[in-house]
Amino acid sequence: MPSNSDLIAHLLESGYADARVADAMRKIDRINFIPAELAPHVYHDTPLPIGHGQTISAPGIVALMSKLLDVREGMTVLEVGSGSGYQAAILAELVGKRGRIITLERIEWLVSFAKENCNRAGYKNIEFIHGDGSKGHSAKAPYARIIVTAAARSVPKALTDQLAEGGKLVIPVGQPYRQDLLVIDKLAGGELRTEPSIPVIFVPLIEGY
Ligand code: SAH
Repeated sequence: MPSNSDLIAHLLESGYADARVADAMRKIDRINFIPAELAPHVYHDTPLPIGHGQTISAPGIVALMSKLLDVREGMTVLEVGSGSGYQAAILAELVGKRGRIITLERIEWLVSFAKENCNRAGYKNIEFIHGDGSKGHSAKAPYARIIVTAAARSVPKALTDQLAEGGKLVIPVGQPYRQDLLVIDKLAGGELRTEPSIPVIFVPLIEGY
């Protein structure tokens, strides 16, 4: 069975992780974010079911999204789709103690699951909110970075509105079983510039339920 270090070595070799993301992933063990019976698969680069029809993303995708988001210390980051809390914990490590993560989740049970997992991992700079993330969270906007970990049909306007100038949004956009991972930069003056990264498959972003 591979270890967390084997997994991280693979992510560095494949280019999914850079050195900063790899350091964060070394500190956060994926074993604390999955159902116990899936432990034999925890350090494989695959998504795993976490209940309620949802999944924890493959570590390669978590690493790549974290790298593309280019998170710096002290930033406030909005995440849509808390799931297991694994991605939120990695972001919390990357922003450091002066930074803050706000993570939104539509399934109440997963809000508690993510919260427990992140608390156990020792992160106090994460705020968990139950609600429709496609509307963002205007109370704390604008955000330096926004990450969406569920597949959208199109980019929700609320999210680009709540992105700071000079900010970055990483979001999978497309059809139910095939999306492009988009990196959207908001330039000074508000203009949006979109760069597609790789094709991905995420569970759907449920909007306006
Ligand atoms: N980032 C997670 C993986 C998330 S899977 C991790 O690290 O484990 C996608 C999550 O998005 C699911 O938990 C799903 O319930 C949630 N989701 C789907 N639509 C949503 C919406 N409109 N608002 C908030 N969360 C949503």
